[in-house]
Amino acid sequence: MKYVDEFRDPVKARTLLREIEVLAGRIETPEGRPLQIMEVCGGHTHSIFRYGLEALLPGKIELVHGPGCPVCVLPMGRVDDCVALAERPEVIFTTFGDAMRVPGSKKSLLQARADGADVRMVYSPLDALALARDNPEREVVFFALGFETTMPSTALTVLQAEAEGIGNFSLFCNHITIIPTIKAILDSPDLRIDGFLGPGHVSMVIGNRPYAFIAEHYRRPVVIAGFEPLDILQSIWMLLKQLDEGRCEIENQYDRVVLDAGNRQALEAVGRVFELRPFFEWRGLGSIDHSGLRLSAAYAGFDAERRFPLPQLRIADPKSCQCGEVLKGVIKPRQCKVFGTACTPETPMGALMVSSEGACAAYYQYGGGQHGGGQHGGGQHGDGQHGGAEAAE
Ligand code: SF4
Repeated sequence: MKYVDEFRDPVKARTLLREIEVLAGRIETPEGRPLQIMEVCGGHTHSIFRYGLEALLPGKIELVHGPGCPVCVLPMGRVDDCVALAERPEVIFTTFGDAMRVPGSKKSLLQARADGADVRMVYSPLDALALARDNPEREVVFFALGFETTMPSTALTVLQAEAEGIGNFSLFCNHITIIPTIKAILDSPDLRIDGFLGPGHVSMVIGNRPYAFIAEHYRRPVVIAGFEPLDILQSIWMLLKQLDEGRCEIENQYDRVVLDAGNRQALEAVGRVFELRPFFEWRGLGSIDHSGLRLSAAYAGFDAERRFPLPQLRIADPKSCQCGEVLKGVIKPRQCKVFGTACTPETPMGALMVSSEGACAAYYQYGGGQHGGGQHGGGQHGDGQHGGAEAAE
C-alpha cells in the first residue's frame, strides 16, 4: 500500500475483522475470560479510539491501554520540580504543549505561567536551544520528555549546544525507556496480558531485537504495529494467529518503517549523551530499575538537576485517583470513581486525562465513557492541537 487512504479501506477492515472473529473464537482462555491485548504505545491508544476500533472487535478481545504515554507516567513530584525551575527568575522554562497542564501537587506549568513564570511552549529541543542562543543573559531549561522516540533529538541538541559552546542551556531530563517498563508489567502478579502490540515509533529507534525476551522468557507474542486502522487490525490478527498456532514470536507489521536493527546513528547519539539512572519513579507503576535516563558525566554541565537546587519530593497521587490501576490494565478508565466528574480534560486530576494519548482523555474525547464524553467532551485534545506530538511514545 502506498497512500494513507489505503490504510483506512473499510472493505479490507471488514475482511480483517471477520478473520479476527474466527481466530478469537478458536482460542481458549482460562475460565473463558477475554483475550487481553495490551497496546504499549499511547499513539496506538489514540488511534484505537479515534477510529472506534475497540467497538468493532469481537467481545472476546479486550484491549488494555498500556503505559506508553510519557506525559501520563510522569509523577507529581517531577512536575513540582518543573514548576520550581520555571519559577526561578533567571530561567526560561521550555516544554512541549502536552506537559503544560499535567497537575503538580500545587500547580501545573500552565498555572505557574499564569502566576508569572516564564514558561514557553516549543516544538523541538532545537527551539529551546535557539532561545538560549537569543537570550544569553537567561538560563534556558528544556523539559526533556519521552521514550526512545524523542531521545535522539534531545541528544543531538545537547551535542549541538556543546559544539557551539552555548553554556546557558540545560535539560530537566525525564526520558524513560520502554523495555524495563514492559518487564515490570510482565512481572506483576496479576498479569493477564496474552499479547502485546509493540510500539511503532520506539521500535523505529531501538529495532525489534530488544523485545526477544518477552517471547522467549515470558512466552507472550509481540507484534510491532503501525498507527493506521488497518495496521492495528492486521497486527491484532497477527497476534491471534500466533496464539492460535501456539507460537510466541516477535513479528513486525510496521516493517515499512521499523528495521530489525533500529537506527544506529540515533542510538549512538543517545549512548553518548545519556546514561541509565539506577531507578526512576513512574506514576502508578512505582519505581522501576534502570527505566530512566540522565545526562552522562561528560555532559553533566547540561543537567538542570545538577545546576539548580530542586525540591525532589515524592508526592503521592490523590487517593481518589486510579491512574495506576488504569495503567496496569486492572480497570478501564470509566471505572475510575472520578472519571468524567471530578476528573475531566478541563480539570484533570490524573495525568491520563491530560495528554491526548492518555487512556482517560481518549475515552472522554471519543465517547468511550459513560459520563460526559462524546465528541465534544474533550475537544481540546483534537489532533490540530496536539502540541506535544514530539513527546509522544
Ligand atoms: S479518570 Fe482521572 S483520576 Fe481517574 S484514572 Fe483517569 S486520569 Fe486518573
